[in-house]
Amino acid sequence: MDATLKGRAAVVTGSTSGIGLGVATALARAGAKVMLNGFGEPKEIDALRRRLEQEGGETVAYHPADLSKPAQAAQLIEDAEGALGRVDILVNNAGVQHVSPIESFPPEKWDLILALNLSSSFHTIRAALPGMRRRGWGRVINIASSHGLVASVDKAAYVAAKHGLIGLTKVVALETARTAITCNAICPGWVLTPLVQAQIDALAAREKLSVEEAKARLLGEKQPSLEFATPEQIGGLALFLCTEAAAQMRGASLSIDGGWTAQ
Ligand code: NAD
Repeated sequence: MDATLKGRAAVVTGSTSGIGLGVATALARAGAKVMLNGFGEPKEIDALRRRLEQEGGETVAYHPADLSKPAQAAQLIEDAEGALGRVDILVNNAGVQHVSPIESFPPEKWDLILALNLSSSFHTIRAALPGMRRRGWGRVINIASSHGLVASVDKAAYVAAKHGLIGLTKVVALETARTAITCNAICPGWVLTPLVQAQIDALAAREKLSVEEAKARLLGEKQPSLEFATPEQIGGLALFLCTEAAAQMRGASLSIDGGWTAQ
């Protein structure tokens, strides 16, 4: 597998933590210039940026865009093209969760999750595709979820947004089918990140479990392997999607879920 990304530039949204950081690390180690994005302490983000540069990322920059705002999503791409000279790889990863039955689901949480987990990808793809078409190559990778393929209770906004993101992935794949630009979705199951730790802590508090018991319960309900997938594994698949071996993978939804959606 020729996984060198020397000369390529990537934007990874929501890459100050968790899965996005795993993907940004994999792309930087393969030699890509990377634009990080997401929230966090400026000092920690700067340390992260320098670490990734040392690990092989030729240039690692950071943009603080709040992607729940359409104008900032488009600005992120414009600024990345300015800072890195190009955007060849776009990884739409930023996302949040809220867990609640639909009758008590706060409408403002619905709006935020749809804006960030779905609409921001429309805005970044819309802004990034013209440059990819001009240069004749591109990779769009949308981080969906098992919840883009199947549902769970109490996750109305998240499940709706992730199903929508898989639909968007297919449309972009078709619209770019006769070019060297591909668009695919990765569908992780449980990955132990701050987004999932919050759900583990809530379960532990609600059911009076230890954190370890709550982790085991969470995995046991959904993930037959009983093991978390890791940000490194998601990064490995994203890197593969950037190679020539993946050039005819178009509009696919690729699960890394310990068997969750095989059931
Ligand atoms: P995380 O909380 O560790 O990371 C989320 C990232 O998004 C952070 O960098 C955060 O700063 C950023 N972010 C949050 N709001 C933002 C905003 N308004 N604008 C820009 N950036 C923002 O979460 P994670 O688990 O790594 O999740 C990353 C993606 O993977 C999400 O789309 C999530 O739905 C998806 N996912 C996660 C899991 C899992 O088990 N952790 C499973 C399937 C899919």
